[in-house]
Amino acid sequence: MDKPLFRLAYILYSNTKLGLCYHKRQVKNARRQFQNGHSAIKPLIFNGLKIFPIPMLVDNYSYLVVATETGSGVVIDPSDPQAVQACIEREGVYLDGILTTHKHWDHSGGNITLKSLYKCRVYGTSMDNIPGLTSPVHDGEELTFGQLRFRVALTPGHTQGHATYILDGKSFGVSDCLFSGDLLFLAGCGQIFEGTADAMLASLDYMSGLADDTLLLPGHEYALENLMFAADLEPKNEAVLLKLDWVNEQRGSRLCTSPSAIGEERTYNPFLRTGSEALHTALGLQWKATDPWEKFRAQILQELRQRKNAFCRHI
Ligand SMILES: [Zn+2]
Repeated sequence: MDKPLFRLAYILYSNTKLGLCYHKRQVKNARRQFQNGHSAIKPLIFNGLKIFPIPMLVDNYSYLVVATETGSGVVIDPSDPQAVQACIEREGVYLDGILTTHKHWDHSGGNITLKSLYKCRVYGTSMDNIPGLTSPVHDGEELTFGQLRFRVALTPGHTQGHATYILDGKSFGVSDCLFSGDLLFLAGCGQIFEGTADAMLASLDYMSGLADDTLLLPGHEYALENLMFAADLEPKNEAVLLKLDWVNEQRGSRLCTSPSAIGEERTYNPFLRTGSEALHTALGLQWKATDPWEKFRAQILQELRQRKNAFCRHI
């Protein structure tokens, strides 16, 4: 983030009331543009567990996670409180908590309204200036809400205090579910607004180290643009092309493309493949045995991010 004007706009958006005003206008416009949300909702239904992706703004997802036996639930990244409230009331859920991945308004803009409506706690890191924060979280901490158990992972890079939440699927007999905010998307990763490429790489490595079957539930519907970039970069990568075909079909019917799984992400997500020789060749960069390997991978990540910014400015 080296352009002074962009830097100023970012500071105004993320640290001042001007950002909140801008966000509220965006919410209003999106409600007008998409009366039923930008994507069709198809809840994930497991034994004793339901996860509702809730579309909001033009491409954001919030998630309502419900333990069906008790009817209690937790919401992740509620930017538009009205859309979340409608889902809570339709499903008759008792809201136990709000988990926030990071401070950006398109993830946290509904915190204060929902907190006062449902008298629940707001979780997030204290480093990230989260609106309505009551309960600062720490790396490795376990959060328990009745049957719902989450592990917190501090994952800086997009913002300094970005956190991700991993739902323990064991008690429901399902895979763990990773709510990755703006760190990791289907076939992509977030912009490096506040951190360094090294910090982002460490966060992505942590995500990549999760079990193959971990389900990925990101904060945005960016799959199509991300895969178009990946296909442009590696036109012969079969995993990229197959996923791109599938995503094209899904989006043709306005269907949500999540979840994917970490195991498959490693085959087509360039940002999880910074150690791949095929990707190095595609970028025209070569590792020299004298260079520290981690430094080289951070350089690959930086290069990928720059090319992605040029390919598709806004994500
Ligand atoms: Zn963000």
